[in-house]
Amino acid sequence: MGPTPEDLLRQVFGYSEFRGRQREIIGHVAEGGHALVLMPTGGGKSLCYQIPALMSAGTTIVVSPLIALMRDQVEALTHNGVAAAVLNSSLDAETRRQTEQDLLDGRLDLLYVAPERLLRQSTLGLLARSRINLFAIDEAHCVSQWGHDFRPEYLKLGVLAERFPQVPRIALTATADERTRGEIIDRLLGEQAKVFVASFDRPNIRYSVGLKRNARQQLLSFIRRKHPGQSGIVYCFSRRKTEETAAWLAQQGIDAIAYHAGMESGDRQCAQDRFINEDGLVICATIAFGMGIDKPDVRFVAHLDLPKSIESYYQETGRAGRDGLPADAWMVYSLSDVVRIRQLLEQSSAGDDQKKLERERLEALLAYCEHARCRRPALLGYFGEAHPGDCGYCDNCQEPPETWDATEAARMALSCVYRTGQRFGAGHVVDVLTGKTTERIEQLGHDRLSTWAIGRETDRNTWHSVMRQLLAAGHLVPDPEGHGGLRLGPDCRDLLRGETTIEMRRDAVPSSRKSSTKKTVDIDTESPLWQALRQWRLETARSEEVPPYVIF
Ligand code: ADP
Ligand code: MG
Ligand code: ZN
Repeated sequence: MGPTPEDLLRQVFGYSEFRGRQREIIGHVAEGGHALVLMPTGGGKSLCYQIPALMSAGTTIVVSPLIALMRDQVEALTHNGVAAAVLNSSLDAETRRQTEQDLLDGRLDLLYVAPERLLRQSTLGLLARSRINLFAIDEAHCVSQWGHDFRPEYLKLGVLAERFPQVPRIALTATADERTRGEIIDRLLGEQAKVFVASFDRPNIRYSVGLKRNARQQLLSFIRRKHPGQSGIVYCFSRRKTEETAAWLAQQGIDAIAYHAGMESGDRQCAQDRFINEDGLVICATIAFGMGIDKPDVRFVAHLDLPKSIESYYQETGRAGRDGLPADAWMVYSLSDVVRIRQLLEQSSAGDDQKKLERERLEALLAYCEHARCRRPALLGYFGEAHPGDCGYCDNCQEPPETWDATEAARMALSCVYRTGQRFGAGHVVDVLTGKTTERIEQLGHDRLSTWAIGRETDRNTWHSVMRQLLAAGHLVPDPEGHGGLRLGPDCRDLLRGETTIEMRRDAVPSSRKSSTKKTVDIDTESPLWQALRQWRLETARSEEVPPYVIF
């Protein structure tokens, strides 16, 4: 009889109790079962294979995508007296030979291997001559071709099942959507694997989402107000923006550095090490930063730009508060973020299926952003998890946003998009709606529409909010050529016809003009102007083949 999981937990790791389903998972793989473990970042996935590794003779092979991640884990294990080693391209020939000999001699409890190294015939041959008690595939979502962490070598890990059918496999990830789950089972585990899903709620994270006004300034005051002198990650869309933001924050007296994939690998490593080891450093990074960063006391994750999907948002915000203490997930976004992501998506070389999925994931994120009630059920619902809501400390719980019946405003905005030829961006459409006369508007003859402008009395921010929420709901879509223009979406007919209504979240952005406090679009449908519009609509509908449901 080997040691029990409880003994190992206490004696080796120094913890008194298992968390969540850890014990159950350990029991399952120790008995030879395959397992898929879905647990949020910081949930404690590592113990699920580290303890089984120590329960029986032989070595557990851990496949991990990042060298830095392997190094950190091995250091921590060695510190606890566990015989752990790495096998990857960073080793010199002598160390590698020694590690291989240790494996053959059964001296290792755990061996961390990069997938490309593992897949070599020589390594597979070495494993065949060694005693292997478990394969652990960490960050298993890297097998998903639809995700942004896709690693082609992960697809080839199916070879483990063929070559080592007797050895149990455990795959672990914090990415939990149905699709990724299915891909991991298909490619790495097989149908007989047992799936363990932990709750994805991160009760210590306070979510908040706002609109961009002056994004940098908003970020600065957030950091100053809530997290002065604390560690945080600021995600930016572009490499350049990470550098500009870091430089600007530094000027404002915040200790900040940049990180992106375009940096020299030495500089990148240095930035990462500084972030992990120093207190109170803010790292402005692209999505290249983060996977496997095990820094427990990241007090906030800020998004200066919208991530591309709800998955990415969840993963990235999940890097905050791994120590269980209060942390913030803070984001500001704008309509142009949405348009940019949609365009990148449409222009990418991805197949139609993938584009469709990516669109859905972005839609899900937008729906989350525009959500007017507690953030938690909106976020967790995406992972198929119910949450009672009213957490009491997300932004919406603390300051519930108002909603309004935006049906008429939506119809007008959609009609304006149609009338201006479905090729202009939100800015121009809002100009027309508010009766602004710019040179461009006059040239295009859109001032003819402006004279009818019913939105004149309403402030531009509200119209922008309407446009954004129409985009979020798919009633507007960007033109496929990627010029930034908006077209009517496929499902806006019912809305235009007035057969359905739409509730919108009131724009949280205060108007730039102090005098304007109006938050809804006032449309007096009894007014002579409105009547004239209807009349005009009916006439032009006959003459110009305008769909009869376009209202002006
Ligand atoms: P994940 O890989 O799921 O993101 P880790 O395995 O890195 O999470 O664990 C996150 C943190 O939680 C680590 O600091 C780990 O030591 C700690 N931890 C894991 N299990 C337990 C436990 N049963 N009791 C206390 N701390 C734990
Ligand atoms: Mg992990
Ligand atoms: Zn809430």
